[in-house]
Amino acid sequence: MWSWYAADSVLTIRAEAGGPLSQLDGRWTLQSLLEQFDGLARVRIATPLRSGRPGDPIDIRVTLLDGRPAHFFGAFHDHGVARGLIVAAEAGARLIHGESNVEPAFQPIRRLDTLTVAGFEALARFRAPDGKLVGPDTLVALGGDTDWNAIAPVMLAKSAETLAQLRGDGHDVFMQVNLSAAEIAQPLLVEEIAAIIRDAGLPHGVLRVELTEQAAMRDFEGALGALAAFRAAGAGIVLDDFGAGHSSFAWLAEIPADGVKLDPKLCRMVRQPRACRIVTALTGLIRGLGMTVTAEGIEDRMVADELHAIGCDFVQGYAYDMPLRLPDIAVAFDPVNPSGA
Ligand code: C2E
Ligand code: CA
Ligand code: CA
Repeated sequence: MWSWYAADSVLTIRAEAGGPLSQLDGRWTLQSLLEQFDGLARVRIATPLRSGRPGDPIDIRVTLLDGRPAHFFGAFHDHGVARGLIVAAEAGARLIHGESNVEPAFQPIRRLDTLTVAGFEALARFRAPDGKLVGPDTLVALGGDTDWNAIAPVMLAKSAETLAQLRGDGHDVFMQVNLSAAEIAQPLLVEEIAAIIRDAGLPHGVLRVELTEQAAMRDFEGALGALAAFRAAGAGIVLDDFGAGHSSFAWLAEIPADGVKLDPKLCRMVRQPRACRIVTALTGLIRGLGMTVTAEGIEDRMVADELHAIGCDFVQGYAYDMPLRLPDIAVAFDPVNPSGA
C-alpha cells in the first residue's frame, strides 16, 4: 500500500518485511524515492504524482535499480492526495487458477422504476460431497472450508466471462463480485482484475467489487489504497451491508464508491414509520453523494414499492429472483409481472 501527500511531497510505502519490495518500506521524499528507480521510471512516476487531480488514476510500471519490476496502481483521492497498491510482479503475472469446486450463481439486481435487470451479484456456490451446489453458509455447516483467497480469482474470472457474454448479447448490465478483507489485501488480485477487464474488453466500472465495511475495518488505510487501485484497474466499487455491524459515516465520506447496498434487515422494516424515516434519510444522503442505493434481501413486493417511493434505485431479493445458475440466467430478462401474480 502506498500514499502520496503532495503538500509535503512525501510518499509513504507499507511493504511486507521480507517481501519482494521490503526495501521500499517507509516514508520517502519524492526525491529520495526516485533514486530507487531507473531513469525512465523517475519521470513516469514523478509527473503524474505532481500533477494529478481528484479521481485521476495512477497506473505506472517502474523498474527498481536491481532490475526488478514494480507496478504502482491507485488513484487521486483528493487534491494532492493519492493512494494505491504496489504490485511486485513480472508484467502480465496472474494468480494461479487451481482446480476449483466453486462456481458463481447470479442474482439479478433490478431497477425499482421499471423492474428491468440492471445487473447481477455473483454469489459463490460450492459442489458438496453429495453433488449438490450449496452456498457458503451450508458449506461451513457441512464442515467444509471456504478459502476466499483462492476463490476470488475464480469468481472474478467466471463472473467477468458471463458479464462479457451478456453485454455481447446486448444487455447493458453490470456484475458485482464479493471480496473479503483478505482478498482485497492481495496486491496481485488488482493485476488480476485489470487483466480480466482488459481481456474481456469491458468498459470501466461494469465489473464491480462488493465490500463489507467489516471486511475493510480491520485496516482502513489499506482498504482505501486497495480500493483506489481497483478503481484504476477499471473496477467499480460498492459498499455492502451499510447500516449493519460497524457502519460508519466516515466510510461514506472517504470511500470512492459507485453504490451502496443497504442492510437487508433495515430495508425489510421500511413499512414501519421509524425505519422508513431512517431508510429515507440514508437514501437521500447516499444519492446526494452521487452514489446509487440498492435495497437487498427484499422478499415482499409491497416492501419494494415502498422502497421505490422513497427513492432507492435498485432492488435485489427473493421477491423477484433467486440466485440463478448460468444455464438459467436468461430467465432474468423475462418481463416481471409487477403484481407478482
Ligand atoms: P451478501 O454479500 O450479503 O449476499 C447476499 C446474501 O443474501 C446471499 O446469500 C443471497 O443468496 C441472500 N439473499 C438474496 N436475496 C435474499 C432474500 O430475499 N432473502 C434472504 N433471506 N436472503 C437473500 P449467500 O449466497 O448464502 O451468501 C452469503 C454471504 O457469503 C454473502 O453475503 C457474502 O458475504 C458471502 N459470499 C458469497 N459469495 C462470496 C464470494 O464469492 N466471495 C466472498 N468473499 N464472499 C462471498
Ligand atoms: Ca454482497
Ligand atoms: Ca449484502
